[in-house]
Amino acid sequence: MLQLNVHAAGRHQLAIPGPSPVPDRILRAMSLPTIDHRGPEFAALARSVLAGLRRIFRTEHPVVIYPASGTGAWEAALVNLFSPGEHVLMVETGHFATLWRNMAQRLGLAVEFLASDGRDGWRFGIDAAQIEARLRADTERQIRAVAVVHNETSTGVTSDIRAVRAAIDAAGHPALLLVDSISGLACADYRHDEWGVDVTVSGSQKGLMLPPGISFNALSPRAIEASRAARLPKSFWAWDEMLAFNANGYFPYTPNTNLLYGLHEAIAMIEGEGLTAVFARHQRLARACRCAVEAWGLETQCADPAAHSPVLTGVVMPEGIDADAVRRDIHQRFDTSLGAGLGKLKGGMFRIGHLGDCNDVTLLATLCAVEMGLARAGVGLAASGVVAAMALLRD
Ligand SMILES: *Cc1c(COP(=O)(O)O)cnc(C)c1O
Repeated sequence: MLQLNVHAAGRHQLAIPGPSPVPDRILRAMSLPTIDHRGPEFAALARSVLAGLRRIFRTEHPVVIYPASGTGAWEAALVNLFSPGEHVLMVETGHFATLWRNMAQRLGLAVEFLASDGRDGWRFGIDAAQIEARLRADTERQIRAVAVVHNETSTGVTSDIRAVRAAIDAAGHPALLLVDSISGLACADYRHDEWGVDVTVSGSQKGLMLPPGISFNALSPRAIEASRAARLPKSFWAWDEMLAFNANGYFPYTPNTNLLYGLHEAIAMIEGEGLTAVFARHQRLARACRCAVEAWGLETQCADPAAHSPVLTGVVMPEGIDADAVRRDIHQRFDTSLGAGLGKLKGGMFRIGHLGDCNDVTLLATLCAVEMGLARAGVGLAASGVVAAMALLRD
C-alpha cells in the first residue's frame, strides 16, 4: 500500500483479477523517453504493436487502440455499431455483463437481458441454446447484435464463445457478435476470426500485464461495414478516423506513447513464452487454486466444472462470514490484495487473481495469505489448501 514515508518491507502481493502485477521488464520499457507522436520512430512503434495485437487477438483485421480503460472500449463498440433504439441481446453472466447492459441502456439502445443459463446467482456461463431459441423467435430480425462477456471477472466463470457463434448461425440470424474479453485475452484461448466475432473489446491491465490506461476494439469487416450506417453520436471513439490514421502508423489524437512501449514489451514476452504455453500456465495455476479451495472445504463461485476461469477463482464464504472483512484483514496483515465480491455477490465471496505475470510460487504466496486470513476469521478449514496446491504444483 502506498503511504508516504512508510516502507512496507517486501513486495505488495497484488492478487486482484486486474490490474495484474506488471513485470519489471515492462515497467523498464515504459520508462523510455516520450517521443514525438508524429515522428518516424513513433510510426515504427505503432505499426509493430498494431501487428502484434492482431496476432494476440488472432485476427487478420484491424485492432483499434484507445487511450482509455476497458469501459471506454465498451462504449466505442456500441456507438460505432448502432443507431438510437436498436435492439441488442445481452446475457447476465455477472457484474460486468450488468455494467455493459447499463451502458447500452444509457446510450439509448433497447437491451434485452437474458438470465444466464436460466439460473440465479451468477454461477454459470452462457447457455447458447437459450440464445439460439431467442434468435429463432425473432422472425422480424429486430435484434441487431448479441453482446456477451467471455471471462466474467466478477465470478470466475468463462463462457464458450464458439458455441454462441454456432447458436447465431444455427438460427440463421444476421445479428452481429460483440464479445468483452477484457480479462480473458492473453490468459484464455481466444480466436477473434475463427470464432466469427465482430467486435472484441479488451483492455491493458489484465492478461496483457500492463498498467491500466489503454484498451482495444478488434474489428471484423462486417463490423466496419455496419459502422457506416450507425447513427449514435461519436467523435473520440469513431473507428473511421482511427483506421485512416493507423494505416500510416499514426493516431488522430495523442496516443499513450509510454504504454505503447509497454505493450510492445508485453507482446514480446507473451510471444516469447508462446500463447499456448501462456494459456496452459493459467489453466494449471487455476487448477492449483481450485485444489486449495476444495481442500479448505469451501466452494468456488463457478458451479460448472467445464466453465472454471483460468484467470481468477471466486471463493464463496460460509454463512455468517463477511468476505470483505476477511479481505481487509488479509490486506492489512499480509500486504496481499484480493478482489471483492461485486454487485449482488458483495460480502459473500472474494476473488483470487492468477493472471498475467504469475507463477507457481506467486500463487502459493497468495494462498498462504488467504489460508492465514481464513483461520484468523474463524473459518473452519477441512485441511490445508496450501499443502494441497503444493502437491499439485510440484509434479
Ligand atoms: C476489468 C473489466 C472491465 C472494465 O474495465 P475497466 O478497465 O475497469 O474500465 C469490463 N469487463 C470485464 C470482463 C473486466 O474484467
